[in-house]
Amino acid sequence: MANDDKKPAAPSPSFDVIVIGGGPAGYPAAIRAAQNKLSVACIDEWKNRDGTPAFGGTCLNAGCIPSKALLESSELYHRVREEFASHGIKVSGASLDLAQMQKRKAGIVRGMTGGILALFKAAGVTPLQGHGKLLAPGTVEFTAHDGAKRSLSAKQVVLASGSAPIELRSAAFQAPQIVDSWGALDFDAVPKRLAVIGAGVIGLELGSVWRRLGSEVVVLEALPEFLPIADQQLAKEALRHFKKQGLEIRLGAKLTQALVEGDAVHVTYADAKGEQKLTVDRLVVAVGRRPYTQDLFTPESAVQLDERGFIKVDDHCRTGVAGVWAIGDCVRGPMLAHKGKEEGVMVADLIAGLFGETNYKVIPSVIYTSPEISWVGLTEEQVKASGRAYKVGVFPFLASGRAKAMEQASGFAKVLAAQDDDEILGVHIVGPMAGELIAEAVLAMEYSASSEDLQRTIHAHPTLSEAVHEAALNADKRSIDNINR
Ligand code: FAD
Ligand code: NAD
Repeated sequence: MANDDKKPAAPSPSFDVIVIGGGPAGYPAAIRAAQNKLSVACIDEWKNRDGTPAFGGTCLNAGCIPSKALLESSELYHRVREEFASHGIKVSGASLDLAQMQKRKAGIVRGMTGGILALFKAAGVTPLQGHGKLLAPGTVEFTAHDGAKRSLSAKQVVLASGSAPIELRSAAFQAPQIVDSWGALDFDAVPKRLAVIGAGVIGLELGSVWRRLGSEVVVLEALPEFLPIADQQLAKEALRHFKKQGLEIRLGAKLTQALVEGDAVHVTYADAKGEQKLTVDRLVVAVGRRPYTQDLFTPESAVQLDERGFIKVDDHCRTGVAGVWAIGDCVRGPMLAHKGKEEGVMVADLIAGLFGETNYKVIPSVIYTSPEISWVGLTEEQVKASGRAYKVGVFPFLASGRAKAMEQASGFAKVLAAQDDDEILGVHIVGPMAGELIAEAVLAMEYSASSEDLQRTIHAHPTLSEAVHEAALNADKRSIDNINR
């Protein structure tokens, strides 16, 4: 004991960069910083339901990846039952094995999250699983999952703590009946009657999953308008398809109460006609996410939050406190994995003294429903409001040979370009593989391309990408494969 007392205190491990949060914003920041020859630690506290810690944050564990796994599986199930006959493929006895579908999803998640540890090892990032807290610029307290605390020091600290689902007082989470999106990804039986609060991205994606697997789905949306963030021509087309699929979307529906009774949920809401009631087996609340910054920093660190709880940052994700940065869902801007990743890479490059920039005007959005919905740049409503004269080109997938061959000839591609210098202002797609097709438009806009640039680019035939080409041609009424209107 006496000997121990004489020992000098162990020096706190020191890094060039500590990243707090290992989601799609934090882990790329750590990897890029290591690529830039900096010593890096990434702290992450995520634990899955079985108690195992895992890097990857919401996106890999409970968001993008598991939802896309279920969207793919449920779409195949739907197509085998509804569409194969039209291809001349007779299938009898196709039935659902939800346990296997969920097992496949869990396997993908495990593989992807384990992959981050492998990437860290290859890049030389030190992974630390537990809680991180910024005590003061340059000092981070790390609490391992077993409760052991360590003080770490770093020249630069990047906060990437992500977001959490918003809970409604009128429908507090009460698993398994009233759940958030994570709960809705993990149902072990198909609910007969399912209600979703919020016709946003999660409501549409997860509503689609369970509708395809057999649930009667009602989506209650408080706003009178459907998908106001999207181009309204696109939103109208998508809504038509969702209705046809049996996804019942009730607009202008304001939830007043959700009461669990036994295994049922009694939902009360108000719409233009007055008070309405609905009884369902499961209720998913998907009304948005809020920045998560719980116990992330001390007041002495001087990091500031804005009025909505986001960490205040400038265009380059500087918090205003020297050596402290913040990225991803915990800062302003769209809550998208690729936006966080880009910010992470930008910050890691800026820390290393390299060039770093995030082009917030050219961030693609994708909704992985069927048909898929994607866009980049301004909507037609936004262009109109800006007062700039513009032209529009549209091409329906009905005129696409590839889409017809795929039995997916619905929706369209739409290109908006400036009347004066032909600059592409926005591209909007609703149709097959819209999420993949938008990449071309993102690249075009990143290079400030004109619609003529797209028109003069050769697109392979027959591909879905020809729809984007033809929409660009249609902006100047020079479409070849469609009547120009
Ligand atoms: P997160 O992914 O939330 O990661 C933050 C990490 O930090 C977490 O692991 C958390 O545990 C950890 N953490 C927090 N505080 C601390 C602390 N103090 N110490 C240590 N660790 C801490 N986006 C898309 O772009 N495409 C999609 O298809 C898509 N689908 C989605 C589907 C669903 C159902 C949901 C819910 C979201 C989806 N998103 C999608 C959004 C996407 O998941 C988020 O935008 C993204 O995960 C944000 O990344 P992030 O790194 O900022 O935060
Ligand atoms: P969201 O903001 O996309 O949609 C929430 C919806 O709920 C809105 O339409 C809103 O008007 C409605 N709403 C809010 N309060 C309500 C109430 N009391 N009653 C009824 N409706 C109400 O949020 P989300 O769907 O929860 O998704 C959260 C975040 O995750 C989003 O920012 C999204 O970008 C991200 N995400 C992205 C993807 C993707 O990129 N494909 C997929 C899922 C989630």
